[in-house]
Amino acid sequence: MISILPPLYKDEIIFNYFGRYHNICGNNSSIHTSEELFGIKLLNKSIYHPRRLDYFCSNFHSDQDIDSDYIIENHTIFPFFRPFLSDEKKSTCIKWLKEKSTGALKTMMGANAESILNKNIIKICSECFEEDLEENGEAYIHRIHQIPGYLYCIKHELFLDEINVEEIDEKLIRNFFDINDLKYTNIKKEKIKKIDSRLLNIMYDIKRIVNNELPELDQLNLDVIKKKYELRIIKNNYTNKGKIKRRDLSNDLHKYYSSDVLSQLESNFDPSYGENWIFKLVRRNNCVCHVIRHLLLINFLFGNLDNFLSFKVEN
Ligand SMILES: [Zn+2]
Repeated sequence: MISILPPLYKDEIIFNYFGRYHNICGNNSSIHTSEELFGIKLLNKSIYHPRRLDYFCSNFHSDQDIDSDYIIENHTIFPFFRPFLSDEKKSTCIKWLKEKSTGALKTMMGANAESILNKNIIKICSECFEEDLEENGEAYIHRIHQIPGYLYCIKHELFLDEINVEEIDEKLIRNFFDINDLKYTNIKKEKIKKIDSRLLNIMYDIKRIVNNELPELDQLNLDVIKKKYELRIIKNNYTNKGKIKRRDLSNDLHKYYSSDVLSQLESNFDPSYGENWIFKLVRRNNCVCHVIRHLLLINFLFGNLDNFLSFKVEN
């Protein structure tokens, strides 16, 4: 067991904690830190995907009440993806985060073509950075900012600055990266002049899901979610003789958001072409589609997430 483990900050992504620990423990070699934290030499540059959380948590004293479920819930991006995964995929992801497999990220985000908004970048709000420095004497990487598709800090109304982890100087990353090694004056500070209200709604949805403010969303399973889509599509007159009017639905959703908003969320498409991500979402199978796209469809069909949740499948 490691003798000094600093407390976790609220909404700190666990990747940041590992980097902080490496700096505090004074190990010259990242291999030693890795062996202490994970029991093996583990190269982990993914900000999204921790591994061996069970081993990592065995380092905490039992009175600290920190286990891998707690870390997954409060310090990883998994809670954002969870409501839209099949029960089987949920359990697989949790198992992989607790053990050593790297597969959970693909399972969460959807592999291959669906793998949107999946860049290994760190997003920072310059004002949060300064506030954290003032409050704690050090800055940290906030989990909410790292959610794929989360583009603004709602609290400070600032665009998030992006740092590509792959491009960071090797000396800085050493497999364990501490955000405090960056000079905050280098972080871009771009005030939002005007933000599209529909895009802003998606940002608020993300925040509510990640902070577990919608437990009723977690209780739905993928079949019920798809049934709600299907019924609402019928109710909104997007079917004809039992078939979805693909062009009408695509055109209307495209107009509702605009190319610009859809592009910002890596979800733009040509509405005149009959096949796009909308139809992958509504199909009755367990195919993983990105949560951002679920939110785009939900807000378009139901107006907001609350209406979606209160919509009864028996309607
Ligand atoms: Zn901020």
